[in-house]
Amino acid sequence: MALFEAIPSETGRRRYRVKSPVTLESIGEFESATAEEVREAVARARKAQREWATRSFEERAEVLWRLVDAFVERQDEIADLVVQETGKPRNEAISMEVMAPCIQISHYAKHAARYLKTRKRRASGLMRFTKKVTLVYQPLGVVGLITPWNGPVVLAANPLAQALMAGNAVVHKPSEVTPLSALLLKELTEQAGLPENLYQVVQGDGETGAALIEADVDKVSFTGSVATGRKVGEACGRRLIPVTLELGGKDAMIVCGDADLDRAADGAVRGSYFNTGHYCCGTERVYVPEAIYEPFVEKVVEQARGLKQSDRGEGDVGAVFWDKQMDIIEEHMSDARERGARVLVGGERDRTLSGYFFPPTVVVDVDHEMDLMQKETFGPIVAIQKVKDEEEAIELANDSDYGLSGNVWTRDLERGGRIAERLATGSVSVNDISVTYGIPEAPFGGVKASGVGQVNGEVGIRGYCHAHPVITDTARKAQGGYPYTAESAERLRKAVKTLFGNRWLRRLIV
Ligand code: NAD
Repeated sequence: MALFEAIPSETGRRRYRVKSPVTLESIGEFESATAEEVREAVARARKAQREWATRSFEERAEVLWRLVDAFVERQDEIADLVVQETGKPRNEAISMEVMAPCIQISHYAKHAARYLKTRKRRASGLMRFTKKVTLVYQPLGVVGLITPWNGPVVLAANPLAQALMAGNAVVHKPSEVTPLSALLLKELTEQAGLPENLYQVVQGDGETGAALIEADVDKVSFTGSVATGRKVGEACGRRLIPVTLELGGKDAMIVCGDADLDRAADGAVRGSYFNTGHYCCGTERVYVPEAIYEPFVEKVVEQARGLKQSDRGEGDVGAVFWDKQMDIIEEHMSDARERGARVLVGGERDRTLSGYFFPPTVVVDVDHEMDLMQKETFGPIVAIQKVKDEEEAIELANDSDYGLSGNVWTRDLERGGRIAERLATGSVSVNDISVTYGIPEAPFGGVKASGVGQVNGEVGIRGYCHAHPVITDTARKAQGGYPYTAESAERLRKAVKTLFGNRWLRRLIV
């Protein structure tokens, strides 16, 4: 049964029904906005943004602090809706979709002024005597925000807070399969007193997302799959507008020979099962040296067996979000089995529960050729591969089309740091699952197919701005230069030789 289906519409627009992955019952219907409506939303946003850009950081922050108040006041409502819409456990709905947005919104309310304050820069070289450089962070205008289903509140609220603090307006196209969370976020911004049209939600599918990119936005902030990210990148390239692409991952976990095995096993389980594995930085591959392989696997199995699933909202591991993801998980599992993998825990969809449930699973005897170790599975699976040593683990970890994040487990923190530096990923955790996105100070973004650009923190919020250098000439008279003569060219030639022909002097003046 499809959890998301097209249904007839009397208005001629594309109309959809969305169902809960837990109960499989309908939770809502919506119609896609037309391209014209999307353009109108962007035009309204542009008008609202002009006034917003004149407000001080303090005034903008005041609205964001009230948004945090709204999150706190309505946290039960947010959690209820997210559980219903996505099937994640209540704990994860609160930690990921309430607590994390509260941290992020508060962070930008407090620190945006520091990240974006106008700066004076010293010109170097001979320029220092006559040029004053002032760097002004100008808002870009209207940001098109396109988001996926796996973190429907946090993946919208975080970029929204940054874009707003930087003085922009946002038009948001949420995932068509989680349309309700975005509407609730909009209500929260209204409750916070955000001026009208600074945050608008246009509901719809991929076509609506494509229409948003064409609708005169000044930047696109996209989070989603690699396949869609390519299309979004191409469309932004044609329009010559900046874009950040936060895409899929295939994160590796490397367990070193000296790791605390209890802690590492806990990390494997949490890293692979958090958000039912529907986590872009979820642990999808675990590499373990043969010397510690047996005890490590034993501990993971023990922990996995202790976890519960429930269609009554009290489980540890939630529902698979929808039929499409279930198909991918089952395909990767059957490919692994056919190629000789052994399933130690779980492994088959649990049909005794009402919705789409795949049990917490542990698979061993996997190899590098399996889909399970190559493609994004996005399911609750710990896939463990035995390796000779850490060198082999690093080699395999890096031999991937993806490069989002990863984690290393060792008692020797320096060794952990050295291995982390060698991983071809956007970020790495040592002795923790990937938590980079949750730490606003850490720039977050993937390399290789996992994305383009970084979000969050100083780098991220500046991405919602144009760094606008204003160069002021402080000389007392015109610089002149004309007419060019053979003598003036000769003077220049000599100046190059004097200043840069001397290794000591050239270091001194720049
Ligand atoms: P998706 O690519 O199918 O959809 C993402 C969004 O793009 C949706 O809103 C969709 O309607 C829209 N869209 C589809 N076609 C479009 C087009 N042609 N132009 C513009 N917009 C279009 O992704 P999904 O299945 O919703 O999300 C899961 C994926 O997101 C996974 O691969 C996951 O790893 C990734 N993800 C990445 C991060 C990160 O920060 N790197 C975070 C969360 C999820």
